Amino acid sequence: MPALEIIAVGTELLLGQLVDTNTPFIAQRLADTGIDVYAAHTVGDNRARIATAISAAPDRSDGVITCGGLGPTVDDVTRDGVCDALDTECERDEVTIARMEGFFASIGRPMRENNRKQADVPRGSTVLENSRGTAPGFIATRRDGKFVACLPGVPHEMETMLAEQLLPRLRERLKTDERIVTRVLHVTGLGESEIDHRIDDVFRAGENPKIAVLAHRGVCDVKIMAKARSDARAAEMIDPVERALRERLRGHVFGSDGTTLPQAIVELLRARGWRLAAAESCTGGRIAAAITSVPGASKVFAGGVVAYEDEAKTVLLDVAAGVIRQHGAVSEETALSMALGALRRFRADVALSTTGIAGPDGGTEEKPVGLVWLAAVWPGSKRSVSTNFPGDRDDVQTRATQATLSLLWGILMSEEATIHQSRT
Ligand code: ATP
Ligand code: MG
Repeated sequence: MPALEIIAVGTELLLGQLVDTNTPFIAQRLADTGIDVYAAHTVGDNRARIATAISAAPDRSDGVITCGGLGPTVDDVTRDGVCDALDTECERDEVTIARMEGFFASIGRPMRENNRKQADVPRGSTVLENSRGTAPGFIATRRDGKFVACLPGVPHEMETMLAEQLLPRLRERLKTDERIVTRVLHVTGLGESEIDHRIDDVFRAGENPKIAVLAHRGVCDVKIMAKARSDARAAEMIDPVERALRERLRGHVFGSDGTTLPQAIVELLRARGWRLAAAESCTGGRIAAAITSVPGASKVFAGGVVAYEDEAKTVLLDVAAGVIRQHGAVSEETALSMALGALRRFRADVALSTTGIAGPDGGTEEKPVGLVWLAAVWPGSKRSVSTNFPGDRDDVQTRATQATLSLLWGILMSEEATIHQSRT
């Protein structure tokens, strides 16, 4: 497999003022394309050091990709560093100048000399058009045929140029007709080790496609990665594995690839014409925020209440003061009563509630930090669960939100199953 090196350029990166997100992005895209990353480096906005980094890299690998330092300001010196490393000079690319003149005319601003500088590329390079900004990138070639490809630092400009301009050329240049295609199944309501246990034999069945399980706070992703010469061939390899995994994880896969749990829920609510309401204490509105982040949520989400104080639970959600006094604000009774209050107040078809101790203070021996009661109520039925979530305040809130959404998803799926059964 061909191997490249990545060099991120920017003094801000070395000062710790900016987190380098470009390098992992480029690395992932290269992996998808079947190209290895041999090493990754960071250098400041310094011509000599950029030149040194660039000179050394291609001796070990097939080429190098830089990002950053292509702009119009004095600290943007990547192109000069490349020229020094390749012992060549910059020349102005007239096609880019024409494009930039058109751009500046369209926004009614004058084009200055320092903008023109952005059209300077090492002699003989291939220019990579920047469809989302002004500074173009380029691919310069060393005498021995190894290359230096330079991308802008601004992430969305870099990402678009990488996908549209650089990767197709790298595929051709490095003759990588193999690609890695990934499909992700999103799983809820099962822990990592339970998933592992259920899919063990599929997992062991082969190296290609490869399977990986990734857990992040309440949701697990099962990735199926196939290496093949075409997307169609990769799909043929992935499909049977996906079927086998779905079979093992039946009732827990809420979507694939880009689907999120709130999206899956909004879709299920919409399919059955249900409206949702939320009564939140310890999650502070995160359930409402998650649902309303989905376009089209207005059709299925009636509203939510953040009832934090005991009195708010009574006044806004009709939780009897006696229930809180007797069982406590963090209790099954209060959670169910909050959900019922929201169901009635919003005239919803299903309502969710959360009440718990997010920490770091407020825990007792009986009710420790991380204890959360969640409930769902819908006509004729109800469900309540208590969990001790690990982690800090943010972890507890995130996991409680996820668990409540997961509870709702499970209800919507099982109710759907009964409807299907009674119809057939
Ligand atoms: P410009 O035309 O904006 O000057 P440039 O190609 O010269 O673009 P830089 O000046 O290096 O790029 O970076 C511009 C901005 O892009 C930085 O201020 C930062 O916000 C972002 N950026 C640069 N490099 C990275 C990186 N490695 N990871 C994440 N963001 C980055
Ligand atoms: Mg810059």
